[in-house]
Amino acid sequence: MPKYVYSFGGGTAEGNGTMKDALGGKGSGLAEMSRAGVPVPPGFTVVTDVCNLFFDNNQTVPEEVNEQSWKALAEVEKLTGKKLGDAADPLLLSVRSGAKFSMPGMMNTILNLGLNDETTEGLAKKTSNPRFAYDCYRRFIQMFGEVAMGIDMALFDEAFDARKHKAKIKLDTELTAEDLKAIIGEYKKIVQKAAKRDFPQDPREQMVLARNAVFNSWWAPKASYYRKMEKISDRLGTACNIQAMVFGNMGDNCCTGVGFTRDPGSGDKVFYGEFLVNAQGEDVVAGIRTPQPISELRDWNAGVYDQLREITAMLEKHYKDMQDFEFTVQEGKLYMLQTRNGKRTGPAAVKVAVDMVDEKLIDEKTAVMRVAPSQLDQLLHPVFDAASLKSLTKLATGIDASPGAAVGRLAFTSDAAVEMAEGGPVILIRKETTPDDIHGMDAARGIVTAVGGKSSHAAVVARGMGRPCVVGCGAISINERAKTADVKAGGKTITVKQGDWVSMNGTNGEVYLGQAVTKAPDPNSPVFAKFMKMAKVFRGDFGVRANADIPRDAKAAVAFGAEGIGLCRTEHMFFAEDRLPHMQAMILSETEKDRRKCLAKLLPMQRKDFQGLFEAMDGLPVVIRTIDPPLHEFVPKREELMVDLAKLPNADIKAKREMVERYKNFGVEVKTLKTVLQDLLKRVEDLHEMNPMLGLRGCRLGILYPEITEMQARAIFEAVVAAAKKGKHVIPEVMIPLIGGVQELENQKAIVKKIADEVLQKAGMKKQKYLIGTMIEIPRAALLADQVAREAEFFSFGTNDLTQTTMGLSRDDYTKFSKQYEEKKIFKADPFGVLDQEGVGLLVKWAVEKGRQTRPDLEVGICGEHGGEPSSVEFCYRVGMNYVSCSPYRVPIALLAAAQAAITKNEASGEANRTA
Ligand code: ADP
Ligand code: MG
Ligand code: MG
Repeated sequence: MPKYVYSFGGGTAEGNGTMKDALGGKGSGLAEMSRAGVPVPPGFTVVTDVCNLFFDNNQTVPEEVNEQSWKALAEVEKLTGKKLGDAADPLLLSVRSGAKFSMPGMMNTILNLGLNDETTEGLAKKTSNPRFAYDCYRRFIQMFGEVAMGIDMALFDEAFDARKHKAKIKLDTELTAEDLKAIIGEYKKIVQKAAKRDFPQDPREQMVLARNAVFNSWWAPKASYYRKMEKISDRLGTACNIQAMVFGNMGDNCCTGVGFTRDPGSGDKVFYGEFLVNAQGEDVVAGIRTPQPISELRDWNAGVYDQLREITAMLEKHYKDMQDFEFTVQEGKLYMLQTRNGKRTGPAAVKVAVDMVDEKLIDEKTAVMRVAPSQLDQLLHPVFDAASLKSLTKLATGIDASPGAAVGRLAFTSDAAVEMAEGGPVILIRKETTPDDIHGMDAARGIVTAVGGKSSHAAVVARGMGRPCVVGCGAISINERAKTADVKAGGKTITVKQGDWVSMNGTNGEVYLGQAVTKAPDPNSPVFAKFMKMAKVFRGDFGVRANADIPRDAKAAVAFGAEGIGLCRTEHMFFAEDRLPHMQAMILSETEKDRRKCLAKLLPMQRKDFQGLFEAMDGLPVVIRTIDPPLHEFVPKREELMVDLAKLPNADIKAKREMVERYKNFGVEVKTLKTVLQDLLKRVEDLHEMNPMLGLRGCRLGILYPEITEMQARAIFEAVVAAAKKGKHVIPEVMIPLIGGVQELENQKAIVKKIADEVLQKAGMKKQKYLIGTMIEIPRAALLADQVAREAEFFSFGTNDLTQTTMGLSRDDYTKFSKQYEEKKIFKADPFGVLDQEGVGLLVKWAVEKGRQTRPDLEVGICGEHGGEPSSVEFCYRVGMNYVSCSPYRVPIALLAAAQAAITKNEASGEANRTA
């Protein structure tokens, strides 16, 4: 018979910490703690497989599951000396979900199970605390009613608040036993009316229903959404942990709390957490009462505090990672309810990894594997420019829950946040968040809440997502219905409304009215630098370059660790204000002679740009791509010209002046408007293409107009000479875009080579090395890579266009139906963000192999958007590229992804050697 149920408690356990697949994270943690002698209330775990069986069998479980559960229950009864349903001294249970990967608050937990009309009286008598007993029962009815019977929580809340109102009290704790008894009566009526049955009185029936409800919560919409976001498989299922209750709500010598062994926001080695006296379960994280910081636990009960520190320090050592723990103190005795590796922000992940190496708790390899490349994003995000904050009104200082600065417009509900996010950045503002806000939090740049502490739902989830978050802004009172908030700031009340701009800083808890200026982060902080140094070692000689067009970006890239420029898009330089007129004039020229005249004006400008790049990248390779986009991108839109021409006959002088301003680059005056616009339209129509993406662009331009390539080659090599004269070590690589076969490359290479040799010879620099290579972005070029490599000294995969052309899918048009495609799982992910390894990747792999067959020392890299996306970087590493190139801010992410790919690959080959 398969084993479906694993017991724990009393200093032993059937399972252990390695069994996350079967027991879930919570279950394996409880088993491991129990084995280690940590005080854990006894219980048992129903394995995750049962969750799948449950859904495969019409929401029923094999009978053996029940049999094994009753047996395990008997053990819990033995260990606690209490019996489920015993009228005199009832055993109460908690029924808790727990998947392999933690999904905080996404699934359900039911506490105080086993109470009914009879056992509640027994509990009251046994504890001599009727208030406590009734409070447990009303909580149980409420939780069970909602979770297992599908009754709207609001119905219970209304009845509860009505009673509070009647009793004229503010705090829940002020309700008397009699009040609570009355509430129980009302709750039972609610259940009867909504579920058309009495509240179940049989504790065993309660237990089965609660377990099934835990399984059902696996498919709750918020849980599904969370899995999708975190890329957790739907098939893993949740385990169900059934465990003896301990009570943090029996009086003032009881409490419940949560904490971390280090600060999950900064990673600092401080004991971190919160607790609430005389409270149960979710009270701490729900943000209803504001809890006390855990440092105050020492004053409350020094013995408990010391024991908690000792246990959690032991757990951290044992798991060799920062722990996130939950505990309850019942009448002065400490119980641990959960431990797991804590979720943390990017900065904390780096800090903890580096510190743990210093503490000799983990080795460097483990440290490098501990930080998800995407987490580095948070260290690379902007902070506020202090000066720009001076002119803004400070609204509030709340609790710094998740670091980072964000600017956006206020949204008062999660649905509004999702909607508004399409039009620009949004800050979600809520009294508190619940798991139902997950989509709004995901859509928002930052989150602000009025209540709650550092372990409130908002704080925990925001940190996991890497969203800046400020919680507990007591000065803000929110009117959700009106979509406004009143803020007491500096003695007066400010009312903010939906759509107002705010700037919030999750690093220090400040919230401002208005838009602050953000500033680039510091790539040179010591901890970050130390971490990157470790990572760099592991990725071996695999390089990371940056895509950068101007010296400023190039310098930023070097600061972030870039080892060259993998793509300089020369056309970006042509869009600058002082160049566009010459570029436009060149395009509109009818003859080669006229074109050359314009190109001569552009030459010194390009030379200067290139020289700046070479100087900034002293000693590092710089890939410069010749002109790529279709020419019509540089001239006015055909439709606009047609509209203006149509308007012209009836235009007044003001309108005409506006037109002159609009077309000033074409030397137009009021009196020549008509002829110039007509000429312009004619030329624009000549240039018009049905499908410019596949039209006259890339190397095709240089083939039709060799003088453009000539000018660019001259600019590049004169810049090489100028930079070299200043003592710089220049490593130029000229890249020809959009070839479909070797012939196009031959044509362009000949032009570049002729100019290069001429310029270098003249400067007496015949020995200067340079490479001429090509972008691989058309499937034909990839297929014929062996031929292409005869001429190409390097390949760089332009995976943006290669994805478009391989999939026959335009990147810009895909956004119109991407949602449906990804929801229906036709595409696993956006192929323009994450490289399609299966299809496009096959061409890449083929081309690398074929290219190297012809030219073994062929340098190969990638310069598409994918070069900074971790899973794509891993792919590039695996197929044997020499480097990836990405935007400057993603360089550390790519470096880390490469290091992890190298470590994983080495371990896999080590594994193979061992088993061989
Ligand atoms: P989650 O997965 O959302 O963290 P848990 O299963 O940890 O849910 O339960 C939530 C809270 O319920 C716990 O933090 C704890 O306070 C309370 N709880 C769970 N089990 C017990 C128990 N056996 N005794 C007392 N409180 C419990
Ligand atoms: Mg928990
Ligand atoms: Mg391209």
